[in-house]
Amino acid sequence: MRNNLIPKLHVNSPYELEIEVLKKNSIEGIIIDIDNTLVPWSEKFADEKVIELVNKLVKAGFKLCILSNGTKNRVAMFNRELKLPAVHNAAKPSRAAFRKAIKLLGTDPQNTAVIGDQIFTDILGGNRLELFTILVVPLSSKEFLWTRFVRQIEKMVLKKYKDSLKNNKE
Ligand SMILES: [Mg+2]
Repeated sequence: MRNNLIPKLHVNSPYELEIEVLKKNSIEGIIIDIDNTLVPWSEKFADEKVIELVNKLVKAGFKLCILSNGTKNRVAMFNRELKLPAVHNAAKPSRAAFRKAIKLLGTDPQNTAVIGDQIFTDILGGNRLELFTILVVPLSSKEFLWTRFVRQIEKMVLKKYKDSLKNNKE
């Protein structure tokens, strides 16, 4: 259980993610979260930056699928220009939604990555299916109180993980 909370990779933002790293890990498909990963939580539409990133990844040969716990409307509005395969009301970390996304991508778990900002939804769900999990720093602090509470626990988990790496080196 504890290992399932540790991302394979931790980067600042999907915009800083290096394509080489994905290629090196044989990634073909990418499942991506919307809220606080691609845009701040309150942002309804995909902006230029998102469109540019999606184009870059598609051009590099990756298949993309949106996986969001957001409502049908939220996802549809965000996806209006992108027109990517998408799963809404995903109830992450539930495995079912991740399986659905993988099916839409037409990839296998071992060559599928998931990018998201939350350990207890994106990372836990992805790790359960042994996907290549990539945690990003959340874009916005406008969040529900519950999420704020979960963040504190996430910080503790990450600190423990980093401490354990440090101890292993010593
Ligand atoms: Mg999110």
